[in-house]
Amino acid sequence: MYSNATRVHMDPGPGALIRLREARIDPTKTNALIITHCHPDHYNDAEVLIEAMTHGCKKKRGILAASESVLNGHEGLGPAISKYHASKPLDVRVLKPEMPLKIDNLQLIPTKTFHSDPTGVGMRIKSDDGIISMTGDTSLKEEVYKEHKDAFILVLSVTRPLQSRIPYHLSTEDAASLIEMVKPKLAVLTHFGVKFIASNPDVQANWVEKQSGVRTISAWDGMTICLKSSEYTVQKCISRDFADPRKFPTDLDDIIA
Ligand SMILES: [Zn+2]
Ligand SMILES: [Zn+2]
Repeated sequence: MYSNATRVHMDPGPGALIRLREARIDPTKTNALIITHCHPDHYNDAEVLIEAMTHGCKKKRGILAASESVLNGHEGLGPAISKYHASKPLDVRVLKPEMPLKIDNLQLIPTKTFHSDPTGVGMRIKSDDGIISMTGDTSLKEEVYKEHKDAFILVLSVTRPLQSRIPYHLSTEDAASLIEMVKPKLAVLTHFGVKFIASNPDVQANWVEKQSGVRTISAWDGMTICLKSSEYTVQKCISRDFADPRKFPTDLDDIIA
């Protein structure tokens, strides 16, 4: 996520570094690395990204904010970051619901989740241009709705398609209920399991949109959303010259064409 000059990277799962390269985003300019909970689809590339953020661990810079489980370990989960890497950022914080974090002009408010990592969080991000709220990995509870009220854009971790709900995750039906209650301007479904992908993510999103009356899209790799003065646009992130290291790095303006 970018806001003017502030760059926040959330949940660097497997392949995060290579995806940044593909999108021509320079990881050495990251200001904050956020890790919502201790499952590898969310933390796998964390140490690599810390190395980038701290310029090869040579410069004390950036913020690392992560769940208790990721930083210190919790009930057999984690820690997911070595003491060495956790000592390199300028500031390290444990994310807890209702303990906000200010990064330049962004306010990050961790939100409650109900997931198999009990120390996990979602994230509500307040910027001058509107609120983007992310459910994080969670099952559906009334408290989750309260956490994301008034979001302009709601991003939901939806793992399962229609008629195949599993514990600790949102299904397509759950997504529709939550979106109907929150009533954002745009809902984005992401974090798809294999069954969700096999059930056609666009079909799932259309079902949710019909049920909730809110524009709903299923995310794709490289999707870019621009939020400016409470207006949003959805674009495809252009991947160019991926294989040519001489053309890297570049600037944000270059990828939002
Ligand atoms: Zn998880
Ligand atoms: Zn996950």
